[in-house]
Amino acid sequence: MSFFSTRGNCCVTASQAILRGLAEDGGLYVPSMFPVVPLEKACALGQLPYPRRAAEILKLYLEDFSSGEIDHAVDAAYGPDRFSDPAVAPLKPLDEGTWVLELFHGPTLAFKDIALQLLPHLTALSARKNGESREVSILVATSGDTGKAALEGFRDVPGTSCTVFYPLDGVSDVQRLQMVTTGGSNTHVIAVRGNFDDAQTGVKELFTSSAFASEMAARGRILSSANSINFGRLVPQVVYYFSAYADLVARRAIVSGDPVNFCVPTGNFGNILAGFYARQMGLPIGRLICASNRNNVLTDFFNSGIYTTHRVFFKTISPSMDILVSSNLERLLFEVSDRDGELVRTWMRLLKECGSYSVGDQRREWLEGIFWGGCADDHDTLEEIGRRFRQDHYLMDPHTAVASAVLRQYRLVRADRTPTVLVSTASPYKFSRDVLAGISGGEKGGVPNPFACSEELEKLSGIAMPEQVRRLKDLPVRHRAECEKDAMGAAVLREFDA
Ligand SMILES: *Cc1c(COP(=O)(O)O)cnc(C)c1O
Repeated sequence: MSFFSTRGNCCVTASQAILRGLAEDGGLYVPSMFPVVPLEKACALGQLPYPRRAAEILKLYLEDFSSGEIDHAVDAAYGPDRFSDPAVAPLKPLDEGTWVLELFHGPTLAFKDIALQLLPHLTALSARKNGESREVSILVATSGDTGKAALEGFRDVPGTSCTVFYPLDGVSDVQRLQMVTTGGSNTHVIAVRGNFDDAQTGVKELFTSSAFASEMAARGRILSSANSINFGRLVPQVVYYFSAYADLVARRAIVSGDPVNFCVPTGNFGNILAGFYARQMGLPIGRLICASNRNNVLTDFFNSGIYTTHRVFFKTISPSMDILVSSNLERLLFEVSDRDGELVRTWMRLLKECGSYSVGDQRREWLEGIFWGGCADDHDTLEEIGRRFRQDHYLMDPHTAVASAVLRQYRLVRADRTPTVLVSTASPYKFSRDVLAGISGGEKGGVPNPFACSEELEKLSGIAMPEQVRRLKDLPVRHRAECEKDAMGAAVLREFDA
């Protein structure tokens, strides 16, 4: 299996795609073809533990990795010391015809752990395969969830280090505490005196600075990235679509071959794209329901075929979906265009220069057969949290609740009774304050201290607080570095030279 760029036809191996992250022409790496998994084999996954399910799917794409390497990597990533639920991605019944796929049982309580627990192992192996003996130094700018997930993934992985920049006043208390208390000998956390855009811009500049690259080389290091456009983050996410389907068959909720819909809270389009890849591989997925918050650029795209960033950006209670340019959509465009790199390049140029592009009616109709886009604002989201708690005794985080509200709309509009998996991306305890407001009808949203919020939520819901949240209060702060937004490179080097 080789990998192409969405904007051309450069051809690299899986390990090169993972190590480089982004193709040289600015495109994203995509597999040269989608390996088809026969239905029988897909259903048989239901008899295997999660790490073995993952290995079966990963082997189809990572052809320059040996079986032994993949087995070792998935065992390290998905072991009981990492995921509090042995099923890793457990599927739970919600109501008649609806199941929740819980992807938040990893160390940082968000779905990003599923990919970021595995990526460091794939990165280290990729470096070795390509004769790269220098330390692979990951740089990440984060607005919240990704930073902690990357830190936990790369923590103490030999041959790597991980440095995270976060905006000093731009993350929640829980998110900041999660990061600054991270252990490990190769983790670095630096607060930037600026906002998220400043941190992101600073990281991008370091990636293109030859002066910084030579400073790093002089220290025996090369730079790499762990953001969600890396193919190494996409392929671990394909696994849980197969896993959920196999679980439904194993429980006799469906019979082999029945279609299943997936409803996915979407931001950068990485999670739902993995579902599309699973569908391309032959998994009987009916419709992929793309749920957005008030930043509903994708809803408009699926309705009109036009992607436009000429719009106001809203800060919502589902911050990981607050995004105007969904990077991974480019991989879907590649398939929509019938793998025409020239056309994708044109659309991306239009997006950059004019802020919008249109895929045309014929392609929009093709998309309509697979996707359905919907959105829910903060008010709908809080109401949905309350409704799910009262009706189904299920506690949802705001991101999952966006998807749940959109699923409700979809069923109303389309009268589609296909069994549906609601993909849950974060623990409610990561967003205690808003979840508390949701289940108490806004009454309890005023509790100021994040720990008090979590305790109140536990008392009110009877659903246990994860250990990671409880422990946070007592963990020592290990990272105190701060820097100006124009001095991030120096701050990284200071960490390495300390
Ligand atoms: C990152 C994230 C999302 C969005 O996922 P994408 O792959 O970017 O679409 C949704 N919910 C949570 C909690 C997240 O952390």
